[in-house]
Amino acid sequence: MSEIIYVDNNATTKVDPEVLNEMVPYFDKYYGNPSSMHSFGGEIGKKIQEARLRIASLISAHPEEILFTSCGSESNNTAIRSAILSNPLKKHIVTSRVEHASVKNLCDVLSHQGYRISYIPVDSQGNVDLDFLAACLTEDTAIVSLMWANNETGVIFPIESIANMVKSKGILFHVDAVQALGKLSINMAKLNVDMLSVSGHKIHAPKGIGALFLKKGTKFSPFLIGGHQEHGRRGGTENVASIIGFGKAAELASKSLISDHERIKTMRDTLETELIHQIPNTIINGEKSTRLPNTTSISFEYVEGEAILLMLNEFGICASSGSACTSGSLEPSHVLRAMGVPFTAAHGTIRFSLSKYNTSSEMHRIIEILPNIIQKLRNISPFWKA
Ligand code: PLP
Repeated sequence: MSEIIYVDNNATTKVDPEVLNEMVPYFDKYYGNPSSMHSFGGEIGKKIQEARLRIASLISAHPEEILFTSCGSESNNTAIRSAILSNPLKKHIVTSRVEHASVKNLCDVLSHQGYRISYIPVDSQGNVDLDFLAACLTEDTAIVSLMWANNETGVIFPIESIANMVKSKGILFHVDAVQALGKLSINMAKLNVDMLSVSGHKIHAPKGIGALFLKKGTKFSPFLIGGHQEHGRRGGTENVASIIGFGKAAELASKSLISDHERIKTMRDTLETELIHQIPNTIINGEKSTRLPNTTSISFEYVEGEAILLMLNEFGICASSGSACTSGSLEPSHVLRAMGVPFTAAHGTIRFSLSKYNTSSEMHRIIEILPNIIQKLRNISPFWKA
């Protein structure tokens, strides 16, 4: 394959070589089961504890508050299921219109199982309606589940003030921090949040490893029933190498959080400024909101996002579309629809998400190529009148 420019880091990230190095011996040299009585297996338990400590310290939590899962989706499912199982009389769930599929689709399923779901709307900049949220909270509410940062637009929700509002009513609060981890500073010691989901593969650890922060004293009901692993809170033999990798990635993230993200934000801002300047009828979604430093969702009116992606792909540029037509329908993403992005723009939306591995020369290459692609597509669009 020719040299690629990978700008799809909200989908997944490259495993850091330091992470991989730390993982490798746990496949072939130290392959024991941490639950075994012999020391060959038992020693591995200490490495798992070290990883737990590293993740806890990235978010200022206690190691016992970290529960390993298989991914961010499992963490989200665990949190919501635990809340409703632990509070069987409460039949109301509050979430937003722009959540990840692992929250959105679970809530849809639960709505057919006797639960009432309130979906908080967002404004045109992707900001959640706090008055709507306040009005939703009732004695029947089992849990409020909201994302910290949106995977498509990067828009950040004011989690601290929402937490205070939700907890003042004594309601469980879960935060999906999968896109926030390693990009924003997270301090669970100060934050009034009961459960928080994170995932390894968004911070240069491998795919298939996640964690759930569970505040001390929070009532909990396991999602995966099995052995005594994770103190009986999640059955199943631990994914040892990936847990160790996640721990290392967390340690690296805590060292470079500020420095990396200043550089990444500068590159993202250059990309946005130049594309807006060179391409007419271009909109940055959520531009006026506080956003993750690495993410931009850009709509080019009167063109199809999928066509843009295919043409970018020819140049080795890997981005993603904000109008994923995974179901084969031509519906734009639920996030853009919730923000009221006009149909003509929502269809032509591309998400670029950067990481520490991107360079400014890669941004210049995109800036050089993309205006021509959009012009070519507009020239054959029946809707474009230049
Ligand atoms: N939540 C958000 C906001 C995400 O962006 C993602 C993944 O893209 C997930 C949850 C799910 O994480 P995982 O891929 O580890 O299941």
